[in-house]
Amino acid sequence: MSRLAYFDCAATTRPAPEVLDAMRTVQEETWGNASSAHGFGQAARRLVEDARAKVAALIGARPEEIMFTSGATESNNTVFQSIAPALKGRGRRIVTTAIEHPSVLESVQWLESQGWSVARAGVDGAALVDPAAIDRLLGDGAALVSVMLANNEVGTIEPVAAIAALAHTHGAAVHTDATQAVGRIPVDVTALGVDYLSLSGHKLHGPKGVGALFVRRGAKVSPLLHGGEQEGGRRSGTLNVPGIVGLGAAAALAARDLAGRAVRIAHLRDALEQGLMARIPNVILNGHPTRRLPSHANLSVSFVEGESMMMGLDLAGVAVSTGSACSSGSLEPSHVLTAMGCDAGRAHASLRLSVGYDNTEEDVARALETMPAVVERLRKMSPTWADYKKKQAVAAAPQG
Ligand SMILES: *Cc1c(COP(=O)(O)O)cnc(C)c1O
Repeated sequence: MSRLAYFDCAATTRPAPEVLDAMRTVQEETWGNASSAHGFGQAARRLVEDARAKVAALIGARPEEIMFTSGATESNNTVFQSIAPALKGRGRRIVTTAIEHPSVLESVQWLESQGWSVARAGVDGAALVDPAAIDRLLGDGAALVSVMLANNEVGTIEPVAAIAALAHTHGAAVHTDATQAVGRIPVDVTALGVDYLSLSGHKLHGPKGVGALFVRRGAKVSPLLHGGEQEGGRRSGTLNVPGIVGLGAAAALAARDLAGRAVRIAHLRDALEQGLMARIPNVILNGHPTRRLPSHANLSVSFVEGESMMMGLDLAGVAVSTGSACSSGSLEPSHVLTAMGCDAGRAHASLRLSVGYDNTEEDVARALETMPAVVERLRKMSPTWADYKKKQAVAAAPQG
């Protein structure tokens, strides 16, 4: 039997071979502490600065605007726990959205517990945020606006540049969680006009446990982690040199062929999405049909539980997820689908298939072969599906 098909690139991606090679070499040969003044340290320091330049280049930033972290969760927590309080001269109020990643949602909730007021913009049925809604919420003032660049569950790409321009006219600083977008679509901090941007290594075929926070030159910064003053005092802790080098290698690979990758990913995603819709009746797309990352397909397979589908597919060697990996295991319907106005049935019936450039046509074929049978078996056990089929038969019966 062929290899397993992995369609969960929104949860994590396979590290590229070049990334693994670079990291292995560092572990073996350049294991010095990048803060040490001797040769061992300086060799490591050079690799860190080379990686910083590569990450900066991928998002159109200057190297000194990149601060390495342990991942996007830390980048986001730094923004809300440390930077936002340092901005408080501009009012203890945040404007954000209802569809952010848990690392933003929960951080914002923490700020609320500290006495901040939070305004959360809703979204339309395609998970799109309306800049006019953000503008209205900004009427009461805000220190910080945070809107994700692309949603992790449905892939909708948000109008962050328009929102940032509005926020700046109100004197608010702007953060975007670009973790799903970086490496999949062009991301340019100047075009976006944001002050802070979070990204993560393992979402772009780099290693886990490393990420970055872009901090625009001149923007307020305050450390979350205090200690040895690494990263110019902005983030203490001995630098994760192998991780940083791996992230740099992943960024350089992404920058080299961003457009080619996007075309390939979209081609495979479309074949998967259209193939499933052609083979399985009553499948609905969640998210925006066009204003969407090339990687994401979020589908509701009516009358079937997403969790059961995911398990059935896993047994057949096809890895997908329901909603976001971070909330799977919980029985709550996805907060993103709920904000989009999906009822509980549609939300529970949702499946997220997310494609990487390393997927193949065979992977797609395997999913297309497997999924109709899994769905048919589950629908046979579903009383709501039986009711639906009965009603359909009545409606179709000749009248009179
Ligand atoms: C994965 C993800 C994160 C968390 O990134 P980690 O590096 O795993 O902490 C944050 N935001 C979004 C949108 C994500 O997809």
